[in-house]
Amino acid sequence: MIESFDAVDLIRAKRDGETLSTPQLDWLIDAYTRGVVGDEQMAAWAMAVYLRGMEPREIRDLTLAMIASGERMDYGDLRKPTVDKHSTGGVGDKITLPLAPLVAVFGVAVPQLSGRGLGHTGGTLDKLESIPGWRAALTNEEFLAQLETVGAVVAAAGSGLAPADRKLYALRDTTGTVECIPLIASSIMSKKIAEGTASLVLDVKFGSGAFLPDPEAGRRLAETMVQLGKDAGVATVALQTNMQTPLGHAIGNGNEVRESVEVLAGGGPADVVELTLALAREMLDLGGKPDADPAAALADGRAMDVWRRMIAAQGGDPDAPLPTAPESETVVAERGGVLVAQPALPYGIAAWRLGAGRARKEDPVSHSAGIDLHVKIGEPVTKGQPLFTMRTEDPARFGRAREALDGAWTIADPGTPVEDGGPLLRDVIR
Ligand code: URA
Repeated sequence: MIESFDAVDLIRAKRDGETLSTPQLDWLIDAYTRGVVGDEQMAAWAMAVYLRGMEPREIRDLTLAMIASGERMDYGDLRKPTVDKHSTGGVGDKITLPLAPLVAVFGVAVPQLSGRGLGHTGGTLDKLESIPGWRAALTNEEFLAQLETVGAVVAAAGSGLAPADRKLYALRDTTGTVECIPLIASSIMSKKIAEGTASLVLDVKFGSGAFLPDPEAGRRLAETMVQLGKDAGVATVALQTNMQTPLGHAIGNGNEVRESVEVLAGGGPADVVELTLALAREMLDLGGKPDADPAAALADGRAMDVWRRMIAAQGGDPDAPLPTAPESETVVAERGGVLVAQPALPYGIAAWRLGAGRARKEDPVSHSAGIDLHVKIGEPVTKGQPLFTMRTEDPARFGRAREALDGAWTIADPGTPVEDGGPLLRDVIR
């Protein structure tokens, strides 16, 4: 039986910088989920948290209360260890696609329940839905059966998982309270802990295309999430990685699947391969396979075999051609030199405007829209060389995409410092 409180008292307490007790947070989240606390009250409380912050104990209580608002998956009967990965999102971040089958090669199961993309960062489900026939919605029984037989599943999170977070995240999105570490950490971790994975590797981005561009803020978020995982009995490690420039060459949906398949075939862009392997090694370590060699499994086709089975198990045809956009426009270099700046955010916004992303969660996305980069940061270019190609189903979208890309690259003389934000992997937080 949950003790009862007055919502206005709890809003005032947070507004005045006080800490809320465990019973107070339990009540607030339960009452909000049931509709007893209104959206306007929860919005005021979220803004008070945004301004005043939360203590670690409060963040843990909030996370546990959001988990308790719904179901928690359990893989007790599965004869394999479970490890998932969560990325805070970025531009061209398709890493889950090669990563999940790669880890499953070694008998470590990857149970990923995912959401759809909103804003400039793409969603994994949107990318996978580019594959003809593939379906994101699975029953719990189908999900478990695929984990047992294939070892990797990426599917849509049902409404039963952390429903309090679903409601609160949508509210934060419309009330200027998203960019708040206690609220982000509890939101992400409530879903990942409810998903039931035994261990978790977080990819916390910093740089232009990241949700929190400042590396120090990213680090605080990573530390908070690692602690929440540990407190809940989920072995959690975070990699802090660079999202200053787009990952790989492809930004969109279908083109990101194409690039992921190149990685699974033993090729693909060096940064995508490097990050896939770094995350795979951490996941395999947590899954009890520290001696596994994921690079070999990419090179010899074992990861590709699991990918094909993973796609087919959800109705997808891994051999079907991916959608191609009818309209394209290529931008060429206005001078020769070296590409010294290529910030991720404008490319993410442009791909979104071309149709690859959605503005509201009920909007459809185009699976063929996006951007293909022909030159990556640090590479030499000659005058007139193609820099990137924009693709869309609707040529009226080119104008707004071009606006987003105004100033989104710099070509300078050789020797000019390259604004790439440093190495791909900045830190590991355990
Ligand atoms: N992703 C989430 O799931 N929640 C947040 O609050 C931010 C990003």
